[in-house]
This record gives sequence, structure tokens and C-alpha cells, in this order.
Amino acid sequence: MRQTQLFTKTKKETPKDEVSQNAQLLIRAGFVYKEIAGAYDFLPLGLLTLNKINNIIRQEMNACGGQEVQLTVFQNPELWTKTNRWADEVVDNWFKTKLKNETILGLGFTHEEPLTNLMKQYVTSYRDLPVFVYQIQTKFRNEERAKSGLMRGREFLMKDLYSFCKDEQELDDFYEKMKVAYSNVFRRVGLGDNTFLTFASGGVFSKYSHEFQTLSPAGEDTIYLAREKKIAINKEVYNPEVLKDLGLAKDELTEEKSIEVGNIFKLGTRFSAPLGLNYKDENGESREVVMGSYGIGPSRLLGTIAEVFSDTKGLNWPKEVAPFQAHLILLDEEQRSWADQVYTELSNSYDVLYDDRTESAGVKLADAELIGLPIQLIIGKKETGKLEYRQRTDLAKAVAVSVQKAQQLLTEFYNS
Ligand code: ATP
Ligand code: MG
Repeated sequence: MRQTQLFTKTKKETPKDEVSQNAQLLIRAGFVYKEIAGAYDFLPLGLLTLNKINNIIRQEMNACGGQEVQLTVFQNPELWTKTNRWADEVVDNWFKTKLKNETILGLGFTHEEPLTNLMKQYVTSYRDLPVFVYQIQTKFRNEERAKSGLMRGREFLMKDLYSFCKDEQELDDFYEKMKVAYSNVFRRVGLGDNTFLTFASGGVFSKYSHEFQTLSPAGEDTIYLAREKKIAINKEVYNPEVLKDLGLAKDELTEEKSIEVGNIFKLGTRFSAPLGLNYKDENGESREVVMGSYGIGPSRLLGTIAEVFSDTKGLNWPKEVAPFQAHLILLDEEQRSWADQVYTELSNSYDVLYDDRTESAGVKLADAELIGLPIQLIIGKKETGKLEYRQRTDLAKAVAVSVQKAQQLLTEFYNS
């Protein structure tokens, strides 16, 4: 894409009403626009990034047999009354709205109830199970504080997968598969080294749930991390009994701030029982379906990546989620026609953002650092036939290369 065609522009000033680093940078770089606290618009660069995150999640869910759907946001109180989750005294973050005829509806903050109810149409026999259904969809939560930018929205995106199994064994097997799939997701979006499986509070059905927590001083959670063993305990459940359960000693743990990027949970029959999702087993006996739920917040993930990898100059996208793979930057007007050719050539193999604007070199380089694409290719010197190749993570280390060599370096970078 030519940057002259991109309708968004970068901003020098930090937005005054925004305290979080991720949102400040994402707004300044033109990835998002803030409508109100906790609600952001995704602009072209932001949406490209979000879609890359979504596609990684989608691939990993599909690989586990997940089938994608998209349920309505509107929630029927009848279903939520059956599971005792309609009343505001029980769930304090509902957004509710009214039809013209005064019927009250909720806006989904999660989707166990409608999906469990829907599955009654299709699950009748043991032959229909197990089944795994997910969506990547907008959720609404009337969060009390929305000061963490994209990391805590009142409207946000969630990938929620629900597993429907015949028994606990089948659930346990799938649950372990999801742990691996989640680790794959966090590794692929670039957060593998600083995201840890964390023991958190369970429900009636299991003692613990598992969260995936990314270390960051900007995080709202506190965990106790056993770095060597690559597991952590959420402060909410941290006590001597849990330490004993997990075979951990106090002195191998460090207290850390972190961001909950994902959460997996064994639900058992918490929803299938009140909503009547049953199946007939091999002997024709009626049994309750055993469920699990598995959430990841793609928009929180985008905010987390922005937060964790940024520096004073701007954003710094890991290669699998960057909105474009390379930033071609023209600094010398005399080389414009050659730069146009280079752009066309590189675009055959890579997603390139081409800064073809007539701004000063200083402005363009500062913008490239703010936008934070992994690779910069600079056409500056009078000497024709060469570009400067450098990585966003190491701007001082630039090498002058031919277009062919640049292609080779890009290929190596993106395949490593
Ligand atoms: P938190 O404790 O941070 O409020 P939660 O435990 O209520 O989150 P879940 O219900 O487990 O969240 O939701 C699944 C995933 O959705 C979370 O792991 C997180 O990635 C994402 N998520 C939850 N709430 C928000 C929010 N307000 N904004 C953005 N993402 C969110
Ligand atoms: Mg949670």
C-alpha cells in the first residue's frame, strides 16, 4: 500500500485523555480511534493487525477440530434466568437494552447460555459428541474502570470456544489439547517468552482454571511465577495449599504484574444441566453433556503486544502480526521512479507499506518508528541500485543492499 493512499495520519501529540501506553501509541500511529472510554474503532492498520491475530487463533482452533460460528449479540433473558446469570446483582457488568415493546434484552458478555441452548437442536446422541464450537465476536461488559486502553474494553473482541463432551475423560483430553493450542497462539503472536500458564480459581467442577498471563508492569493482575518451571499462580488463589498441590516452594516464586490474555475453564454440567443439554449414551440412557470454555481476547492481545514491545519511539510488531511486512521509505525525490519500481517488485512477494509521501526524511523516519513494522527498507542515498535494510528492533544496524539481496534477507527473516 502506498502511504499517500492511507487515510490515517500519525499524530505527534499524546492524547490527553488516554493514560495507557498501548492506546497512546496505537492512537498516535493511526491504528485505532477512541470513541469513548473502553470503546475503540479499528482503522486500516489496526484492523490488518487484528485480522492477523484472529487468523492465527482461527488456525489453531480449526486444527483442534473447532467449528466457527457467529452468534447474535442479543441475549434472551429467559435463558440466563435458568442459569441464574440474568440479575444485575449476580452479574454486575451487563449492558441491557429494550425493544419498542419494552422487552428487555442483554448484550452478550459471554455466550455459554445461547450456545448450550442452540446445541440442543443438534446434539441428541453419543454419536454427535464431542463437538467444539467457537466464534470470534464482539462482547460487551460494563467494566467499572477502562483505563488500560485496548486491554480492557467495554466493547471488545473475544474468541470463545465451547467444548461439548460425553464425559470428563473426553473433556480432560480436549482441555490438554487447548493448553497446547493456546501456547501455540501466544508463541505465534510473539508473546511466547513472556506468557505463562497460570493456575486460577476454578468452579464447582474443577479446583483450578488456567489463565495465560503475559508479564507486563501495565498488567492489572498479580501472579507468583516459577520461571524455571514455566508456571504461575494467580494471587487470587495463592495459598499454602495451592503451593503444595503444585509442588512449588515459596522461594522459587517471584511476584509479577501481568495481563490475562486467555482463560480456559472446565464447566462440567454447570450450563448443560439447567438448560437441558442431554444426549443418549450407547445404552440409550440420558446423560448431561460435559462442557468446557476457552477464551482469548484478540483486541486485548493487540493492546498487550503494543504495550509489551513498544519503546520510546513507538510500536514494534512481531513478524506474524505486523500490518505490513516491510516499510519501504523513499527519502530522496530523485530516486522516486526507481523506488516505485522497487515497490512493485517487492509487492509481488511481500505486504509492503510504501512511504511515497513528500515529507522530510526526519518526519518519515519518525513515523516509521512509530508505526513499528519489523523491517525498514530505506531509499536515501544518491547512489542508485541500493536500499538500506534494517530491523525495527535494531535500527543502528543498517546494511546497504541490492533489491535482490533485500528480497533474500526478507525471505530469511520471515522464514526463520
Ligand atoms: P478480567 O479478569 O481481565 O476482567 P475475565 O476473567 O473476566 O477477564 P474472561 O471472561 O475469562 O475474562 O474472558 C476471556 C478473555 O477475554 C480474557 O482472557 C481476556 O483475554 C478477554 N477479555 C475479558 N474481558 C476483557 C475486556 N474488558 N477487554 C478486552 N478483553 C477482555
Ligand atoms: Mg478470566
